Amino acid sequence: MNPSSTFRIAVLPGDGIGVEVMQPCIDVLEAAMRRVGNVALDYEWLEAGANTYRETGNALPKATFDACAKADAILLGAMGMPHIRYPDGTEIAPQLDLRFDLGLYAGVRPIRTIPGVPSLLASPRAEAIDFVIIRESTEGLFASRGKGVVTDDREARDTMVITRPVCERLFDFSFRLAEDRRGSGSGKGRVTCVDKANVFASFAFFRKIFDERAARFPDLAADHVYIDAMALSLVLKPWEFDVMVTENMFGDILSDLGAGLIGGMGYAPSADIGDEHAVFQPCHGSAPDIAGEGKANPTAMFQSAAMMLDWLGERHAAPSARAAARLITDAIDAAFADGRLRTCEFGGDADTAAVTRAILAAIDNDTARVAAGGRA
Ligand code: ATP
Repeated sequence: MNPSSTFRIAVLPGDGIGVEVMQPCIDVLEAAMRRVGNVALDYEWLEAGANTYRETGNALPKATFDACAKADAILLGAMGMPHIRYPDGTEIAPQLDLRFDLGLYAGVRPIRTIPGVPSLLASPRAEAIDFVIIRESTEGLFASRGKGVVTDDREARDTMVITRPVCERLFDFSFRLAEDRRGSGSGKGRVTCVDKANVFASFAFFRKIFDERAARFPDLAADHVYIDAMALSLVLKPWEFDVMVTENMFGDILSDLGAGLIGGMGYAPSADIGDEHAVFQPCHGSAPDIAGEGKANPTAMFQSAAMMLDWLGERHAAPSARAAARLITDAIDAAFADGRLRTCEFGGDADTAAVTRAILAAIDNDTARVAAGGRA
């Protein structure tokens, strides 16, 4: 094979289960690309994370950051360990440094029920959960990371930052995503701004800019929901939402809530996207409670890798990369469809290796679709 598109991928397995799901993810990527042809990935494995910090005193070595900045995309497992901390008591989180330093303002967190994975909500409508949280990822309350002040052991302050340029790009990204989702038949053409504009000036400003940008997309529905009401709605009627966009801290919390709706962190992928760079990683952390047992659900890692191929394919006009992305997503759906593959979130015995085997088998079985050039 002489692939017409070869992309350089910075691979950061990180810590805990991040390491355990990364090699299976590469196996899945390779299997999908073998089937599709015309696309290849060139991997550079790099050190970063809590264990790197413990060994070297630096959680994100310069060589790693430079390689990430040069790569076409960054694939990340998970980083951080509760027992390894900076002197101020905060956790090691170089994934946050990457977001800030590479300007990855749009944290894309799709929340979709995989048919065959048990629903946590009793309503049959939960089978139709399919929405995307866009979490602003370079400012908000997280802008205070490393800058919070504790005075005289009496008072602590962290400051939230909302800026117009980032908001404009964030909202435009969200509206364009809603257009794409509607175009592909998966979306409702709706963007919901999640804020706390009734209390904070920063969120009133956030909402004002949202409304300004919404006016540029008159074909889409744009509405607002307060964060507390959204927490309620995401349990009562999550199937009604399409794209929701919110501040960094709110998005951090809502994405875990969303993951809970569809079976747990092992089913929640993510991408952190900027104008030039992007990191693809599962929403979950290093999961120290199950690390080393080989039972982490690798599905979110695979879904994140599919998002990477899709992003690369769109950015570089490489339809084969997009076809490989669809193949992985379809293989995940096929592997879970009959309801027998039960991961540890449900007390099942489908461990990392078993889920990987099932998805690899589904990729290999998907000859008809690949021969037909992928789904439209
Ligand atoms: P972080 O703060 O780094 O995002 P977290 O505190 O949200 O991490 P996680 O590491 O994501 O915590 O784990 C939350 C829970 O979900 C834990 O009980 C963990 O075992 C479980 N979990 C996370 N990822 C997976 C996975 N891939 N498969 C199965 N269980 C998982």
